[in-house]
Amino acid sequence: MARTFRTIFTGFLLTAALSLPIFAQSGDITYTIQVGDTLSEIALKYNVTIAELAAQNGISNPDLIFAGRTLTIPADGASTAETALQTQTYTVQPGDTLGIIAERFGVRTTRLAQTNNIADINLIEVGQVLVIPGNEPAKPVYPLPAPFTEISLSHNPIAQGETLLVQITLDTTATLTADFETRPVALTTTDGRHYWGLVGIHALSEIGVYSLAFRATLPDGTEAAVAQDVVVSAGDYATETIIPEPGRENLLAPDVIKSEAQKLALIWNRVTPEKQWRGTFGYPVTDPRITSNFGTRRSYGGGAVNGYHAGTDFGGNGDPIFAPAAGTVVLAEKLNVRGNAVLIDHGLGVYSGYWHQSQSVVHVGDHVERGDLIGYIGNTGLVTGPHLHWEMRVSGIAVDPLQWVTEDMEPSSGE
Ligand SMILES: [Zn+2]
Repeated sequence: MARTFRTIFTGFLLTAALSLPIFAQSGDITYTIQVGDTLSEIALKYNVTIAELAAQNGISNPDLIFAGRTLTIPADGASTAETALQTQTYTVQPGDTLGIIAERFGVRTTRLAQTNNIADINLIEVGQVLVIPGNEPAKPVYPLPAPFTEISLSHNPIAQGETLLVQITLDTTATLTADFETRPVALTTTDGRHYWGLVGIHALSEIGVYSLAFRATLPDGTEAAVAQDVVVSAGDYATETIIPEPGRENLLAPDVIKSEAQKLALIWNRVTPEKQWRGTFGYPVTDPRITSNFGTRRSYGGGAVNGYHAGTDFGGNGDPIFAPAAGTVVLAEKLNVRGNAVLIDHGLGVYSGYWHQSQSVVHVGDHVERGDLIGYIGNTGLVTGPHLHWEMRVSGIAVDPLQWVTEDMEPSSGE
């Protein structure tokens, strides 16, 4: 489209900017963040910069915003600091939009348009020289309270049934504890300044905003606390009906199920401090054919949904089962519901279980490395046919094992 090239005179622009009406002064506009929103989209929608939006709302990391939170939108055009010196220029490049340029220089799109007397922000052309408004007011900084310098989450939102990697950096050594709602999160550190830990999100968690609270105790006894919102989103889980093989219905008795679950919980609720796994997990079978996914909502016996699938099932019969990561065998025995079962402690509250085996070849106390044989696929316990049920627990919460095959559940530094 044809457009006249304009030469920019600073003096003219100052006059123009000052003569333009000041935009609405109200700072009362609010916006509730929706799942899937990004700060840049919100900033664009309200014609403010990401930096302004972040500063106005005390957001330290613009990549971490949380559905359900209400943002205050800075008053558009409220700045009257148009008398600042305007000396910086920028030549429009192919692919540029006024919004992109404004973002690049940390100014509002409307201010850039005003400064350059642009009536339609969609009409700029390659080669056009824009004056960048200078002397932007200093942006307020809302740092985390000392000694916290950074809190990083591997996912936010995070889906039901997933594992969240949390990393915290302090500016001085301190003792750090964390709670996800009321559950303690096992943290580890090598230097007292960089901590990390894993949070298992229960597959049946309600969708919504949860609080991850941190408390640091400095050597002099001073305490500091900070909370981080964690948004739990819906997992993509189907529903299925489980009809046990004839003769095994008695295994459904609530007291049988309960006592076995309690026995296992006593083990996997313990946290051993040494991390034994390294990097991603392997598959526990050489030919992984998934027959039932983690998280599937279940009806046992055909009634209402009364549970969920706490692991991933693999088809097979007699196939060898291999440890997917290093750990220590903490249970190897025949259970009523889970049949011949092996439970491996990988450290830091992370456990993996292998149910319904025809035969196990490991014993309590054995150390296993990734790829070591632990048993064979069978149909012992409460099953509809031979298969391996592979279960992962993080501080007692069942999580999707397949996430562990694709994601490194440790800081990238390998710390
Ligand atoms: Zn299963």
